[in-house]
Amino acid sequence: MTRQIASVIGGKNEPTGSPYTSTNPARPSEAVAAVPLADAPTFARACRDAAEAQKEWSRVPAPVRGRVIASVGRLVEANTEALARLVTEEIGKPYAEALGEVREIVDTCDFFLGEGRRLYGQTVPSEMPDKNLFTFRVPVGVAAVITAGNFPVAVPSWYLVPALLCGNAVVWKPAEYAAASAHALYRLFAAAGLPDGVLNIVFADGAATYEGLELALSEGTVQKVGFTGSSAVGRSVGELCGRHLQSPCLELGGKNPMVVMPDAELDLAVEGALFSGFGTAGQRCTSLGTVIVHRDVHDAFVRAYVQAVQAAKIGDPNGDVLYGPLLDRKFAERYEEYLTWIEPHHTVLPGPTGRMEGEGLYYHPVIVDGVRPDDRLFLEETFGPIVGVTTFDTIDEAIALANRPGYGLSSSIYTTDPKAAFRFREGVSAGMVSVNNSTSGAEAHLPFGGNGKSGNGSRQSGVWVLDQFTRWQAMNWDYSGRLQKAQMDVADITPDLAFRL
Ligand code: NAD
Repeated sequence: MTRQIASVIGGKNEPTGSPYTSTNPARPSEAVAAVPLADAPTFARACRDAAEAQKEWSRVPAPVRGRVIASVGRLVEANTEALARLVTEEIGKPYAEALGEVREIVDTCDFFLGEGRRLYGQTVPSEMPDKNLFTFRVPVGVAAVITAGNFPVAVPSWYLVPALLCGNAVVWKPAEYAAASAHALYRLFAAAGLPDGVLNIVFADGAATYEGLELALSEGTVQKVGFTGSSAVGRSVGELCGRHLQSPCLELGGKNPMVVMPDAELDLAVEGALFSGFGTAGQRCTSLGTVIVHRDVHDAFVRAYVQAVQAAKIGDPNGDVLYGPLLDRKFAERYEEYLTWIEPHHTVLPGPTGRMEGEGLYYHPVIVDGVRPDDRLFLEETFGPIVGVTTFDTIDEAIALANRPGYGLSSSIYTTDPKAAFRFREGVSAGMVSVNNSTSGAEAHLPFGGNGKSGNGSRQSGVWVLDQFTRWQAMNWDYSGRLQKAQMDVADITPDLAFRL
């Protein structure tokens, strides 16, 4: 049965808008949810409502806000199966992975519920007597959060949880094709007792979102933009924010390299390349883009990789499979375009490419051996079940190849030589480095984020994200009873700098 859902602004449903239907990619003729998409003025209105609600919310003591986050975590945990099933139904993510995705929200809540009691400022010594200096974390105000749908609930929670904990209000614009999953998560947050207007969910297409955001930024109702999505859209959102003197949190695409050194445990590397290249059908921002394998082990690696891919099960995401369908028709169409980037000098393994027989958006796994540094397949993100393979001779060459596409989200090296692991860490431009582990698999308390085309250096998760959702306020308090001037009225202790032993 098709669910009827709608945007919720200030606690009220918004039943009007242009109709959109999210579908089940395993059976695209099956509707998952019908949702009216809002226009730009509606998005801007949500930001005004949020700004109003934020005033009260910021006065709720941080430990009390932490208790609300604790309740969100409990509610998500108690609804794990229902939420994970919905994610599987709506975007085709294998159920086991969907359970992991829901777990990530619980972990995020577990981390931040305590942060409510730790939102520390500092006391800082002054240059002058009878004067104290302090720092305070101040909420930014309203955060407009725009998210992709490949992690329809976990990645949004990386924004929503810390933003709310820090005393901000949020207007969340999820991906259209993951509307039902997002709406379910919204309801769990609302059930935790958030006052109306503190968290708002607005369903809209990209154009209306951009226009609505522009309106809201002009009206001064948004102080922070969180954007997770493609590098192309991230660039335009970043430009818009720059015009309004704001620094957004941009979490964008990736072309994540895996280096396999000649001393690597090949079985482990193959297992990692299978999971990160083809898990979620290669539709993670941290999915493996290119395996950069040492010439001496290239043939053995490729042989084992092809065997592993051939043995993997692809199909109904409710079953025990490596991957299910692509997220949505839009992604299937785009993926078919990436397949046209295969060139005559490439070797395509195990063989068939393109869509599998049947109704669902299932695609064959593709390994493209012999990619070269100037190939489009080497340089650009190819969201889908396709992995490139290239070779190297020296570690410096491997690092240069890893950095060449200009993204910088995740990276990995398989080696038994600590020197190689540290050389790689120092040289690679990625925000995240795995050693003897795949390019995928974030933990809720480690910084997550990228550089270059993968983002503007912002970090989510752990204590690091607090700097996205608070601004430091410095206070000085002079109780000397006179005007003490910094730098000028400072005591001077004269050293004897000519002294020698
Ligand atoms: P997308 O950029 O097309 O859309 C992302 C979100 O932005 C959606 O909600 C969409 O409706 C909205 N949007 C689209 N155009 C817009 C515009 N002009 N202005 C404002 N909002 C707009 O991304 P996608 O194709 O849905 O998602 C896949 C991409 O997201 C991949 O590149 C993937 O690597 C990336 N991603 C990154 C991370 C990360 O944390 N770095 C996580 C998940 C996905």
